Amino acid sequence: MTPSQPLQGKKKKGIREISPIDVYKLLPGTNCGECHESNCMAFATRIVNGELVIGDCPPLLSEENARTYKELAVLLAPMVSVVTIGSDAHHITLGGKYVLQRHEFTYHNPSPVVIDVHDLMSEAELLDRVRQIEQFSYNYIGRKLVLDGIAIRSTSHDPDIFKKAVKNVARNSDYPLVLCSFEPAVLEAGISEIPDRHPLLYAANHENWKIMADLSLAYNAPLAVYAPNDLPLMRSLVKTLLQCGVNDLVLDPGTFTENGLPDTINNFSLIRTQACRNNDELFGFPLLGSPISVWAGGEISDDVLKWRESVTASMLLSRYADMLIMHSLDGWVLLPQLIWRFNLYTDPRKPVSVEGGVKIFGSPGRDSPVLITTNYALTYFTVESDIKSANIDCFLVVADTGGISVESAVAGRIFTADSIALSLKQYDVQSFVNHKTLILPGLAARISGETEDTTGWKILVGPKDSSRLSPYLREHWPPES
Ligand code: SF4
Repeated sequence: MTPSQPLQGKKKKGIREISPIDVYKLLPGTNCGECHESNCMAFATRIVNGELVIGDCPPLLSEENARTYKELAVLLAPMVSVVTIGSDAHHITLGGKYVLQRHEFTYHNPSPVVIDVHDLMSEAELLDRVRQIEQFSYNYIGRKLVLDGIAIRSTSHDPDIFKKAVKNVARNSDYPLVLCSFEPAVLEAGISEIPDRHPLLYAANHENWKIMADLSLAYNAPLAVYAPNDLPLMRSLVKTLLQCGVNDLVLDPGTFTENGLPDTINNFSLIRTQACRNNDELFGFPLLGSPISVWAGGEISDDVLKWRESVTASMLLSRYADMLIMHSLDGWVLLPQLIWRFNLYTDPRKPVSVEGGVKIFGSPGRDSPVLITTNYALTYFTVESDIKSANIDCFLVVADTGGISVESAVAGRIFTADSIALSLKQYDVQSFVNHKTLILPGLAARISGETEDTTGWKILVGPKDSSRLSPYLREHWPPES
């Protein structure tokens, strides 16, 4: 049994109900330290916090511990199974959710955003769109946000045409693929072209499920199950497919827009609630949302359809979609989704941070200003952006406050005179300049006096808003001796 398989006849514990003792009891208990933890109990604690995986205990990987490993894998299996799409070298991971709400623990496996192409595009159009999908990239507080896969739709309904399109895409991109058709012969033609790429087959429905199951098993490919606005049918199809031996399933209860949107959100919410709250094994699979469906909207302007696609995608990301298939490639449609996804999937227990240290901007000399801020990512990248856009040559000390912003770190006594003194020493700031003047953020003004006393550096209080740094430095730098 793998972690992705449903449990048979057992009430599974939620991750928050599993104690370190539950895990510890199954560990080798030798305290050997091969996991780089001080003992097995420390390892067990980090396992239930989701900071380590059981494979990080080397003795568990031995043959003699195979049974224990499986027991642990079952104990720690998520409520929503894990499905991977793509090759070993480039794949996406769906599902693996432990909780219904993010704040209960954290969400794992950010929902991939997959963009469509279709088989009636000319070769040039197809390859141009593939190139655009691969090149879409945006830097957001130091993280690169990208698109994740390509869905190839059969609009020709012709196996040979579809096969050719799959071949063209696969030759030019190693991105994970979704092959879309309700006609098994079309899908078979497509997957026969890429038997080792492990694409998602979309989709089995109440008419084609038997042949789709055979195809999924023959090619060891995950299978999407489509039961539009019909949860009893979804349950029945999943049960039947599991009995056929198809375990890697992705559920699509249909994405409807306008008047159908409430049903869409209800269905997604009911499926995920059943899986996470009621241990419903038949609904414990990743959910597929298709904001692309708005494009069947008829005589409406493209801008309105793009807006609808964007809104639908955001709602589905918030309501448990583990993957999205979209059509628009416009930045204003996609960026809100990628940024929302980024924020939704950050660990609420850990602020987003950057590494502490001294950052150098422009070509500072030994008389250039030294500023200090904290390592909360949003703070750091805002300050970085303001310094760069104002072309300021300076040194920026980034104090490690555990990812806490300046104002909160001052209030919480994390960003203090002592911690600033420690940062100056730890990062050897004096070695960069000939002076001893430090510009404190305006939001830390109230610790300026004690910081001057503790560090021995002259402290200037900078602006509260880093966008004001340029006029501030014109007025205050170099400082009066
Ligand atoms: S490697 Fe395994 S057996 Fe060794 S201390 Fe860590 S958890 Fe215990």
